[in-house]
Amino acid sequence: MTCQSYVLKGGNRVEYTIKTLLTREEVERRIKELAKEIEKDYQGKDLLVVGLLKGSVVFMTDLIKEIDLPLEIDFMSASSYSGTESTGIINISKDLDIDVKDREVLIVEDIIDTGLTLSHVRKMLEERGTKSLKICTLLDKPSRRTVEIKGDYTGFEIPDEFVVGYGLDYDQQHRNLPYIGIVVKK
Ligand code: 5GP
Repeated sequence: MTCQSYVLKGGNRVEYTIKTLLTREEVERRIKELAKEIEKDYQGKDLLVVGLLKGSVVFMTDLIKEIDLPLEIDFMSASSYSGTESTGIINISKDLDIDVKDREVLIVEDIIDTGLTLSHVRKMLEERGTKSLKICTLLDKPSRRTVEIKGDYTGFEIPDEFVVGYGLDYDQQHRNLPYIGIVVKK
C-alpha cells in the first residue's frame, strides 16, 4: 500500500492510499491470455488496433507485443471523465489518422464503467464503415453500466471502486504504476 498526500490540479489537498487490487503478475498473465485469444481470432485478417488515449496506452503496448500477427495501431482521444466522477459529456480531442473503412478494428480500452465513452466511439467508427468492430478492455465495472455494451475480450471484472495504475489515472497521476490499485481516501 502506497501513502499519498497530493494537491489536485484545482488546488485541493487530498490524502489517500492506494490498495493493491490486481498485482503486476496477475495483470501480465491475463494480458498474455487475452493476446493469445485475439491472435487466434484474427488469423489471416487485416487487424487495426485502436487505443483510446490516454488510459489504454500501458495496457495496449503490453498487449500488442504478445500478439504474433501483422497489425497496425492508431489512437483516438475520447473522454467523459474529470477527476473521479463521470460528466456524461463525451469529448473527442484527437481523432484517428487511419481510415477505418473496411478494416477489422479492435478497440482497446482501459476500463468500461458506464459504457458511455465506448458506445459513442463504437457508433462513430461503425458509421465510418468498419468491416468488423470488437472491444478489448483490461477492466470492467459491470455494476456501473448505464448503456448496453460488453467487451469481446475482458481482462478482469472489478467492483465499483475507483482504480489507478496500468494506464489509469487519478488527476493524471499514477498511470505508471505497474499494478492496479484502489484509491482509498482518508
Ligand atoms: P465510461 O464512459 O465507461 O463511463 O468511462 C470510461 C472511462 O472513464 C475510462 O476510459 C476511464 O478513463 C474512466 N474511468 C472509469 N472508471 C475509472 C476508474 O475506476 N479509474 C480511473 N482512473 N478511470 C476510470
